[in-house]
Order: sequence, then structure tokens, then C-alpha cells
Amino acid sequence: MATVHESRSTDAGEPMRARRSSLVRRVIAGFSLILSLSGAALAGLLAARDESPLKFLAQFDERTLRIAGLSVIATIAAIPLVFLLAAWLMGLRERRQAEALELLRHNREALRMSRDQMRRVFASLPVAYVLAHPDGRLVQANSQAVTLFGIQGKDLADINLFEFCEDDDFREELKGYLVDAGRIENFEITMRRHDGRTFWVLYSAAQVEMDGELLLFASFSDITERKRVEQALQKNETALRAIIDASPIPVTLTNHASGELVYINQAAAKFYGQPAPDLIGEPTSALWESVEQYAGVLVELNARGHIEDREVRMIRGDGRGCWVQVSTTVLRLQDNTLLYTAFTDITERKRKEGELQRLATTDPLTGALNRRAFTERSVIEGDRARRGNYAVSVVICDLDHFKAINDSHGHASGDRVLKTFTAIVQEMIRPSDALGRIGGEEFAILLPGSDAAAAMRVAERVRARFGATLVPVADGAELTATASFGVAAWSGDQSLEAAMQAADAALYAAKAGGRDCVKLSKEPTATAKIVPIGSVSRSGRRSLGP
Ligand code: GH3
Ligand code: MG
Ligand code: MG
Repeated sequence: MATVHESRSTDAGEPMRARRSSLVRRVIAGFSLILSLSGAALAGLLAARDESPLKFLAQFDERTLRIAGLSVIATIAAIPLVFLLAAWLMGLRERRQAEALELLRHNREALRMSRDQMRRVFASLPVAYVLAHPDGRLVQANSQAVTLFGIQGKDLADINLFEFCEDDDFREELKGYLVDAGRIENFEITMRRHDGRTFWVLYSAAQVEMDGELLLFASFSDITERKRVEQALQKNETALRAIIDASPIPVTLTNHASGELVYINQAAAKFYGQPAPDLIGEPTSALWESVEQYAGVLVELNARGHIEDREVRMIRGDGRGCWVQVSTTVLRLQDNTLLYTAFTDITERKRKEGELQRLATTDPLTGALNRRAFTERSVIEGDRARRGNYAVSVVICDLDHFKAINDSHGHASGDRVLKTFTAIVQEMIRPSDALGRIGGEEFAILLPGSDAAAAMRVAERVRARFGATLVPVADGAELTATASFGVAAWSGDQSLEAAMQAADAALYAAKAGGRDCVKLSKEPTATAKIVPIGSVSRSGRRSLGP
């Protein structure tokens, strides 16, 4: 059971006896003195004169004697009354005195009970406390304090609180602080027991006045275990931070509320090409190429708490964009919500993927779309045109007498001519247009947003330019070649397939009409729906289907 230890008894002893009032005594004494003196004076007078009392009395007239006699009788009669009065007054006085003593006893008892209560409260406190003189000498300590400081069985008066402070300078600092401010609150300090063992306490102290004496009330919570856990965590955190810092995977931490970067490991700093301190405090969104994409990711994070392996574009310190694969998790640490992001640079992978994509969709000789890619592109553009209700035109071109070029100048020269034609077309069409190689020396041009007249103009410009171009071939020679063009327009209610057939027919007409010319289809099919070209067999010379 918790008890309170004290350095000495603080009993004040019996109260001082009250001084007896002298009023009654003085009255009685005065009265007696007057009587005695009067008697003595009378006897002395009679002796001096050598007279008998009767003779003496005979000197006075009757009236004087009567007055004197009555006075003596009255005085003698008053004596018992005076004694009665004195007894009553003394009784009254003693009652008052007893009441006062009772009140004093009651108050002392109340004070003792309140002190006992205080001791019991202190004893039951879950913390160690002591009462000490301002110089540190202990007055009282509860059992927790006795155990904490290891002072069982010792006389508290021999122990000074400040001796437990481990560090001399800090002890003086604490004392000074206490004197200046009158109190100390929740200092975390290390103390040393008598046996030399150190421990951590949460130390609070205040000056209190008790029984007119200024004392120091100090409480101590043993926080050694907490500190040990804290230090272990600190070590873990340091180790964890070192691991993340040394991780080859770029990692960042963002304060979710402010959107600012709060941590960036070495790999991430290297990736961004900037020292970590330059990036801390910057908005994380500034590292993303698309702020909209970042905002979208945040919305997703708020809903799901994480995203995995998202391929996004980021910006390096030199302004170059790059591809990264990002995984982000919302972390709640103490009062902060953080976004933990780890990512890998996939720029090279993306480049290779792009290269593979290019190889898969383009003709290696000319760089034009291969037939399959051109077909897919046509499907997409057909859908778009239908939704947007705008025209798409198709031009099919075929190089004239190409076999003869091969035969005369060799296959390599023929290739050079094919490349020259492709380069001219690519240069003269818009990025939204598409050029596909759909046969050996046969090409198709898709012109979304161009009606027949516009497509005719494009085809005519290409024809003229190609026909006028000198193509360097083997042995330093140069040659010219021509091409024929068939144009067909597609509008809303016609299928693209039908337009392709119509363009093919127009090309046939251009060939028949002497070559090196552009012909517009006369009769496009108006019934078929938009379908991928090549998926429906065409009448005519060939099929575009895969
Ligand atoms: P026309 O004016 O009627 O179109 O006559 P043409 O000779 O151009 O047509 P034809 O179909 O008779 O010959 C096409 C030639 O194109 C046959 C083929 O050897 C050649 N050719 C196809 N692909 C290539 C290629 O990749 N490189 C080269 N150099 N020649 C090719
Ligand atoms: Mg040809
Ligand atoms: Mg041909």
C-alpha cells in the first residue's frame, strides 16, 4: 500500500495556557486591601492616641456614627455578593476558555485530517512526488518516489533532491529556472539513483507554501521505457531512411495536404537531375508533364488509396520529358497523410516499344504505313468522320511502268524511286492524313476532312511534283518517273470500302487514259456502311484484306 514518508514529526505541542484575566481578582484584592488598610489605620489611630474604641467613637456625633456603622454593615454585607459575582465571572471565563479550546482542537483535527487526506492523495498518485526544502532537502516522499530513487530505509532529511540530477550543469539550470519562473513543467531529464542506475523522468516542480514555509513540490513520471522505445524507433527510422535513401529505386514522399515534396531519395534526385534539397518543398505536380494527369491520379488515390504500375510522363531537371512507371500509396503517419511514390524510368523501354510499334505498323523500305496499319487507321478515321459528320477522301496511286524502271536501272534504283515518291507524299499531306503502301508500287492516301475537290488538288500537286523530281540512281545517273492517281470522296452515307473501290476504278481510268494523271471517281457506291477496308472483298484487281 502506498504510504508517505516524512523526515520528521511536525506536531506543534499543547497550546499555550490562556492568561487568567485579573479584573475580578483585582476587584477582590482592592476591596480587601481597602478593608485591611481601613482596619489597620483605625487600629493604629487608636493605639497612637491610647484611647479605647468607645471613647474614640464618642467623639463623633450620632449622625456620623450612624453613617459609618451603616457603611461598615453594607460593606460586610456586600462581601459575599462580590465573591458571588467573582465566582460567576470566573465560571463564565472558564466556559469561554473551554469553548475556545474545543474550537482549537476541532480546527487542529480538521487540519490533521486534511493533511492525512493530502498524504493519501499524494500516496495514491501514479507518479512519484516529493516535498523538499528550496535547497533540495527532502521533507516528504511517496512510496513511488522512494522506490524510484532507491532510498528505502533512509532518512529523508539526509537526502537532497538535486543530488539525483545526473548532470551538474543541468541541475544548476533547473534550479535557476525554478527560482525565476516558480515552476518547471514536463522537463524530460535523466536522473541517477543512489546505486548509480540512470533513468528518464518527466519532471515537474513548483514552489508551494505550507504552514508558512516555502517548499518545493516535485513530481516525476518514469519514462525510461517510453524513451527506450522511442530511441529504438528512432534507430529503426534512421535505418529505414538509410535503406530507402540507398535504394536504387527512386522514391518520393509528398505531403498530401500541401502537395509539396517532403522527401526524395538519392535515386530520385539523380533521376530528376537535381539535388534533393532543391526539390524539397516544391509542388510534386511540377514534376509531372501533365498536371491534369496528376490531378486524375490524386482523385484515384483519394478513392482507392493506391495506384500501381501507372505509366506516366514526368519532367527532368533539364526540361526533358520521360516515361516512368509509378506506384503510389497513401500513408498515414502520426498526424500527416503522405503519398509514398516509387517509380522506375521506362523511357528506354518505351522507346523500344515505340520502335517495335513502328516496325509492326510501317513498311521498312518507305516508312509508309503497312497495309494492316493503314486499314486500322481507316477504321478509326471512318468512325471519327461518321461521328463528326465530315468528309473523308481516298486517293489510290500506282507508279507508271515501274517494272521497266526495275528492268532498266536495277531493283535498288526502283527502291530509290519508291522512297522518293513516299517522301514527296509525306511532305505534302497533313499530319492527320495517312499514307499506306498497299501493294508493291501502289499506295493509298487517306485524307480525313478533305472533300473530292481538295483530294484532287492534293493528288495533282503530288503528281506534278513527283513527275518533276530527278531521282538519283546507280552510277550517278538520274531518272524521272510518273504515277497515276484515282480519287474518290466518302461522305456520310457511303462506306469507306465503296470509296476505295471507286478510287481504284478511277485509278484504272487514269492508267487507261495515258497515265501520269489524276482521275476522280464518277460513281461511288452509296449503299454500303462504313466497314474496315480489306474486310470486304473488292471487285477489281486486288483485295486489301489481310
Ligand atoms: P503500270 O504502269 O501498268 O502500273 O505498269 P507497272 O510496270 O508499274 O506494273 P506492274 O504490275 O506490271 O509491275 C509492278 C512492278 O513493281 C513489278 C515488281 O517487280 C515491282 N516491284 C514490286 N515491289 C517492288 C519493290 O519493293 N521494289 C522494287 N524495286 N520493285 C518492286
Ligand atoms: Mg504500276
Ligand atoms: Mg501496280
